Amino acid sequence: MTTANLLEFDLDGLAAFCEKLGEKKFRATQLFRWIHQRGASDFTQMTDLAKSLREKLATTARVEALSVLTQHESKDGTIKWLFDVGGGDAVEAVFIPEDDRGTLCVSSQAGCAVGCRFCSTGHQGFSRNLTTGEIVAQLWFAEHFLRKHLNRSERVISNVVMMGMGEPLQNYSALVPALRTMLDDNAYGLSRRRVTVSTSGVVPMIDRLGTDCAVAMAVSLHAPNDALRDDLVPLNRKYPIAELLEACKRYLVHAPRDFITFEYCMLDGVNDQPEHARQLIELVRTHGVSCKFNLIPFNPFPASGLLRSPQPRVLAFARTLSEAGLVTTVRKTRGDDIDAACGQLAGDVKDRTRAAERMAQRRAAVAERPVVLHPTRAKTPKTTVPQEH
Ligand code: SAH
Ligand code: SF4
Repeated sequence: MTTANLLEFDLDGLAAFCEKLGEKKFRATQLFRWIHQRGASDFTQMTDLAKSLREKLATTARVEALSVLTQHESKDGTIKWLFDVGGGDAVEAVFIPEDDRGTLCVSSQAGCAVGCRFCSTGHQGFSRNLTTGEIVAQLWFAEHFLRKHLNRSERVISNVVMMGMGEPLQNYSALVPALRTMLDDNAYGLSRRRVTVSTSGVVPMIDRLGTDCAVAMAVSLHAPNDALRDDLVPLNRKYPIAELLEACKRYLVHAPRDFITFEYCMLDGVNDQPEHARQLIELVRTHGVSCKFNLIPFNPFPASGLLRSPQPRVLAFARTLSEAGLVTTVRKTRGDDIDAACGQLAGDVKDRTRAAERMAQRRAAVAERPVVLHPTRAKTPKTTVPQEH
């Protein structure tokens, strides 16, 4: 008999499951706490549950984590895991410790169908959506591993960013219960503003998320006009910038004191000129979106044919935006020894599409690297531009 993986359920889902077993809702809450707050996977450990329930669970349910293919810890405490999700697919998660927070960067898909020019995950093509359980399992594993590893009894992960592999809003039905589990006080209890969905701009799903679960929103903008964005982020041809920015405004109706974070990957000679900064200022003014900008130094890989903007140009761009009153931060890059973009090692595990075959040369060049994950840090570096608010 197949059993249900309880990591697939948010609390409502678990209550429905328990009801089918003839159990009351508060039993589901107890079970949910055991799993997510205490990291338990063995029902016999759950001593305050009735023995009869534990016996029913033993035959109908399981708590199944993802197996870890590689783990890599850098000197600054960043830890990167590559998880096996079966069928030759793998996804990654990254823990980034900072003074005042611990952030986990989580994947939503194996590969990605959007195919952004500057993104190695995009170059690999799409394999499949992760299930809710596979998204939650990254947090479940990381949180409970880190408590042991760092010898901490209290919560280690305070923030989650959906900035690993994949486009979260193209996996909406799995994403929402995962977000609800992250926010649930009986699970991880993360505040709504400390869970960020990053999207390339799936307009209808931005609207739905506003209604269903209005967490913090980051939008990968990367270009100030449609001609350029069509080329860098192909989804723009379906949902052009004006529609995207209007969706951002509607989103903020559900999160009134929030702002949208616009991510902007700085590409040498492509989107980093003074006129691009001026166009961005104009764009944001026209649409009146409450926002801040996060400039990301590009992590180059040969197949992209793109280069990182020189730092002085990034800082000049940041200054132009901030002088126009736009809060702008510049993301700190990782060390040069781990300078590849997120998703690359997972791509080495399996060729997903012909796009991946065409990238074989690039993969060969990076194959020796032990772990290749999200290259950047959320923390603001020391620059002349204002700090994050
Ligand atoms: N699909 C979502 C979330 C995953 S990508 C999105 O596009 O927003 C997370 C972030 O990493 C995005 O802002 C993306 O633009 C950025 N990114 C992708 N490839 C990168 C690279 N090579 N260098 C720097 N940032 C990159
Ligand atoms: Fe997909 Fe995001 Fe990469 Fe674009 S940047 S290909 S949407 S993961």
